Amino acid sequence: MIIGCPKEIKPQEFRVGMTPNAVQEAVAHGHEVLIETHAGAGSGFPDADYAAAGATLVDTAEEVFARAEMIVKVKEPQAIERKRLREGQLLFTYLHLAPDCAQTTDLLESGVTAIAYETVTDAQGGLPLLAPMSEVAGRLSPQVGAWTLQKANGGRGVLLGGVPGVGPAKVVVIGGGVVGTHAARVAAGMGADVTVLDRSLPRLRYLDDVFGGVFRNRYSSAGALDELLAEADMVVGAVLIPGAAAPKLVTRDHLKTMKPGAAIVDVAIDQGGCFETSRATTHEDPIYEVDGVMHYCVANMPGAVARTSTIALGNATMPFLLDLADKGWRQACTDDPHLLNGLNTHDGQLTYFAVGKALGIDV
Ligand code: NAD
Repeated sequence: MIIGCPKEIKPQEFRVGMTPNAVQEAVAHGHEVLIETHAGAGSGFPDADYAAAGATLVDTAEEVFARAEMIVKVKEPQAIERKRLREGQLLFTYLHLAPDCAQTTDLLESGVTAIAYETVTDAQGGLPLLAPMSEVAGRLSPQVGAWTLQKANGGRGVLLGGVPGVGPAKVVVIGGGVVGTHAARVAAGMGADVTVLDRSLPRLRYLDDVFGGVFRNRYSSAGALDELLAEADMVVGAVLIPGAAAPKLVTRDHLKTMKPGAAIVDVAIDQGGCFETSRATTHEDPIYEVDGVMHYCVANMPGAVARTSTIALGNATMPFLLDLADKGWRQACTDDPHLLNGLNTHDGQLTYFAVGKALGIDV
């Protein structure tokens, strides 16, 4: 199969759909890989690395889209890219179609067969192509929260780990899933005093078994939240209710009970955020203040560490990518129902129920 990987064109997107390692494996499987020149530059992969891995470097995105039978990307295709897609071509990338009527309409009109990373499942009920980005955002959140807490950034001027003779910062993580667990591990590793809240008892049991001596956990009741917020130096929002907007667990009134200069990192901002006062920010202007509490609400946190994110995403997509290229999408999806769950559009038909429901389109 001819696989094509264009340079990402969404503003501030530095990741790339294929690493040189992925190219090397695809070529070893007998496929031709077209890489747009400079596609990997933002992630620290020069063209020479792709050439050494066996890729054919191509000067323009137009040529990649025109020649490739499968397009591998990171972000949803932008309007100009959607015009280049065609019937019989396979698109493998993040799509997030449910809130995006314009993109859905264009994909249906193009006739492309689109497999969305975010709806591919695994045997444990997880989302294997979303998890790496949650791991990245989770581990990044204490790092950006620690920066937000610095005095020059409007924070309390508290060091997460404290020093001998000075106690550590108190960190509260709301939601103990993938993001929350990785956030708690890193915050605890930086020496903070960490408590994770979750509403799932099986999850709390798991956290207790595995991380019992590293950080505490509490059932996420309104009372526990009131108590912990008043003491917190930093709060990480990491709640997810699948298929729904994040619940606003921390209200504006709560802010008045918090310490001046405390830091909020609302990782769940991509689902609307779990703080009433959250609004999405960007890497260029990531923080703002409400009632004395500093908010960090960047919706695409993994973009800050594009190289790590690209490699982590590439590790997760590689087996699916090879399967799709080796067998063609029909056979690959017939053999793997979890990959089939990724199918969102085919030949002008919407094939993912939740997207149809959200947009009022027949599936
Ligand atoms: P997950 O499903 O692994 O974890 C969510 C956890 O929230 C679950 O353990 C669930 O039991 C818990 N929860 C649900 N209701 C709760 C409540 N009322 N109180 C406490 N806990 C509750 O999800 P995840 O992969 O960790 O993702 C968390 C959020 O982070 C999602 O909104 C995801 O989209 C977002 N995310 C954002 C970025 C970013 O760049 N901002 C990157 C990756 C993920």
